[in-house]
Amino acid sequence: MPPPPRPPPKKKKVYVKEATPEQVLARGRGALLGLAVGDALGSTHEGRRYQAPMFPTLCGGVHSELVGKGPFDLKPGQVTDETQLATVLATSLKEHKRYDLVETAKQYTKWVPHAFDVDAETKAALALLVDGRTGEHSGRRYWLDTRPRPAGNNSLARTAPIGVFFYKDQPRRIEASMLDSAITHFDPRCQLGCVIVNAIIAASMYSPNEKATHEDLLKQIEADLSIAAAQLGRSHPDVIMQTSDAAEWLREDLRLAREEDPLLYGPELRLHDPEKPMRVSLRLALWELFHAPDFEQAMLDVINRGGDADTNAAIAGAIYGAWVGEAGIPPRWVEGVLGALNERPGHLANTYHPKNLVLLAGTPTDANAKSATPEKEASPMGFIKG
Ligand SMILES: [Mg+2]
Repeated sequence: MPPPPRPPPKKKKVYVKEATPEQVLARGRGALLGLAVGDALGSTHEGRRYQAPMFPTLCGGVHSELVGKGPFDLKPGQVTDETQLATVLATSLKEHKRYDLVETAKQYTKWVPHAFDVDAETKAALALLVDGRTGEHSGRRYWLDTRPRPAGNNSLARTAPIGVFFYKDQPRRIEASMLDSAITHFDPRCQLGCVIVNAIIAASMYSPNEKATHEDLLKQIEADLSIAAAQLGRSHPDVIMQTSDAAEWLREDLRLAREEDPLLYGPELRLHDPEKPMRVSLRLALWELFHAPDFEQAMLDVINRGGDADTNAAIAGAIYGAWVGEAGIPPRWVEGVLGALNERPGHLANTYHPKNLVLLAGTPTDANAKSATPEKEASPMGFIKG
């Protein structure tokens, strides 16, 4: 008798490991709280030219707490333009469940009358918006009219909500990062810098491991940067050379940020440069990510070096906070920024307060609900429901 036919081989099931809803929540909140904490810590030291040890020695904790004051005489824990604009962006993403350029630009202009700390580039571009330019043209017009000039760092400091909202959606993350930067900072260095910040946040959020490795982060940065540079060149052929140069400069920043000395005290980039170039802020933030042993020491190093300390610390805080999650941020600093201005009614204590920024990442209840929700019903943010 012939042997019975062999049963067909069983198909191997392939399981793709994903971050848990709790991990996603912790890292999303880490990015947003890290931004606000960095801004509040750094605002005290904005514009100071502190003496600091040469890299890779970290600055000690000469200034180590939320004390407020600084050039704007702030209350301890109070934030400035970086967090306020990020809050506007986060609120718009949450409300529209997508990146809405027109609406976001409109909300940025509504913030201006309440602003006490706003850089010249943002102010000028938002003034063009008020005069009737669209969000697609305001930053470009200003950049074309004033170049060559250093690329400012402020769009990098507000961009983190895009990385949190679109952590699973690479095309929309890249598109929104560039569109949002271009409202005020059209310079290709700024647009591509925002793409890098959000690539780090995304890779940190979706890692199924305890923490994304440096290699995970670098792979996501290179993937997003290559796509973004090609897209920017296609959509603005007149700036294709500047885009190509910007991508190469940013790759150089990435390379130097991994070295022991990131060369931030000249001759090319200078940490105390009053022009506030974004490549200084980005290279310093990346250096902290690759070298500082924890969030607290990263922040203390940034603020104790002075310079554009609030913007530098907001950017470093967003990417380091996403990487280590909320639990990696000292609770006294989280409580300090979330509890600031409680006794003062008004827009700065309500509309533009970091308590609204953090809402984008959700709450532990959202994470629990997502654990019981089938994957197909997930929003672009995973567990985060509008
Ligand atoms: Mg500021």
